[in-house]
Amino acid sequence: MTSSDVEHTALLLSEPASEYSLFLSSLSDQDKQFLGLVSSNADFVYKYQNPLSHDLALESIDLEKIYEGVERREQEQEERGDQSDKEKLDFQDLVVVELLHFFRHSFFKWVNKPECPHCKSDENIQGVGVTRGPPASQDPDEVGRIEIYKCTKCGQQVTFPRINNPVSLLRTKEGRCGEWVNCFMLLLQATLGADVQIRYIVNYEDHVWCEYYSTNLKRWVHLDPCEDAFDNPTLYCENWGKSMSWVFGFGLGYVVDLSDKYITKPDKQLDKWAVVSHPSVVRKYLEYTNNQLLKKYYTERLNGIRDEASRLLALSEEVVSLKENELNGSPTRTANKNDVPKGRQSGSAEWTKTRGEAGE
Ligand SMILES: [Zn+2]
Repeated sequence: MTSSDVEHTALLLSEPASEYSLFLSSLSDQDKQFLGLVSSNADFVYKYQNPLSHDLALESIDLEKIYEGVERREQEQEERGDQSDKEKLDFQDLVVVELLHFFRHSFFKWVNKPECPHCKSDENIQGVGVTRGPPASQDPDEVGRIEIYKCTKCGQQVTFPRINNPVSLLRTKEGRCGEWVNCFMLLLQATLGADVQIRYIVNYEDHVWCEYYSTNLKRWVHLDPCEDAFDNPTLYCENWGKSMSWVFGFGLGYVVDLSDKYITKPDKQLDKWAVVSHPSVVRKYLEYTNNQLLKKYYTERLNGIRDEASRLLALSEEVVSLKENELNGSPTRTANKNDVPKGRQSGSAEWTKTRGEAGE
């Protein structure tokens, strides 16, 4: 860290807000709609910072079983001895690997359609509509939408509330990729500790996953809890055969365009400019959002540090350098592709096929 890094951070922080107001007011409706993806997720990871929710998360899982699994994986890695030191996973990495496995196979359940409580089956369940959940202030589960279904066999109406509070998901333990990633990220943050950085990853074509920063591997590592996938960024384009236009990463204090990391095959790149008008719109909006997020981090998370220079140094180390190192390119290791079954594993075969994720 040099004094110029700190000066650079101070400049990012001081960008005048007035410069952006003209830009924001000139956006087209289509651009606003696209950028809503960025603005609605900008603060996402702040919800994993509450120490109380960490306690609840740790109480809901079998930590002893997870650490046993980590020990076994450590031994297996030693016995194989087939990796270079650079690729070797350390204890923390193996905790993540084991947590992913536990979450997918012993904790959370996938829901295509809810079960009829009367017939104990989802076979005759048909969707009939969607309503909005109650106002957030009156709803501890933070339900966004409520999907409404009907059982055509017995006539029973069944609802499926889409819960957004990760603590509530520790209780319900079910959902689709949104619920899976949300609940997993809370468990991940709680297990690794508050100092480890995690990110929420959103694809414009309706899939979400996450990452954590491995201090051992010195880079952000891809994680997909729905698929029990660790460090396999080519999963979507090369295994599922999924086509995508944009992918964004949301960390504590910034947002970053990760399209190049995850759209790994040129023929799977959907037209980026069909959904937003111009590269400069995205660049400028990310600059604006990052300015806002940096200010938030500075005033809220670093307010315990009195000395201005130390605050700027912390901001530079914890946010700016992590973001910019990555944009300058970092090595990626890819999981052994032979170990990964072809096509998306979460969701029914029919559903996966209609989404173009079956690996065909
Ligand atoms: Zn029924």
